[in-house]
Amino acid sequence: MKSEKMLNELYNEYTCEFTGNEFVFGCGCIKPRLLLIGEAPGREEVKLSRPFSGPAGKHLDEFLQLAGIKREEIYITNAIKYRLSKENPKTGRLSNRPATRIEITSSRPYLLREIAAVRPKCIVTLGNVPLRAVTGRFTMNIGECHGTVSVEKIEEQEYMLFPLYHPASVIYNRNLKETCEADILKLRTIW
Ligand code: URA
Repeated sequence: MKSEKMLNELYNEYTCEFTGNEFVFGCGCIKPRLLLIGEAPGREEVKLSRPFSGPAGKHLDEFLQLAGIKREEIYITNAIKYRLSKENPKTGRLSNRPATRIEITSSRPYLLREIAAVRPKCIVTLGNVPLRAVTGRFTMNIGECHGTVSVEKIEEQEYMLFPLYHPASVIYNRNLKETCEADILKLRTIW
């Protein structure tokens, strides 16, 4: 089956299973050498229906520029395709919240189908959530494996896996900037 058809089918099924949410699906080149996977869309992403269009997207664009990668030549998606939010009971305003293990696990089969549909040479995960969603190993930690290459077998197909810190981690911890940049320069040589 063609990649586009596979993606449309799985996104339709996803919408049915997680009905009532605001969805943002993957976008970009559907025959990419590189697949980039984030955690979940935020407010800005939902508004624009595009992954990484908010503040984290600005950092991602800087990362990509450093790696010599253009958005149009890769596919970008999230492990979870709807906004994870919580309401402030005082103001009624919504803010983002971390993914639970159950949420990661229930979206995982769709993520694996998405990977099989676009068949990249290299998968780059951004932070712990997509790393655990791709591997299914919840003991894995980004602090221990960022910037290292491994091989991941998904549905009988082998992929190069290259975990990176999430671009938003630089917003919260400026000390990570140099580490992230070193990892990205390494990505430049392998993808
Ligand atoms: N925006 C996304 O699309 N994904 C993230 O993980 C963060 C921001």
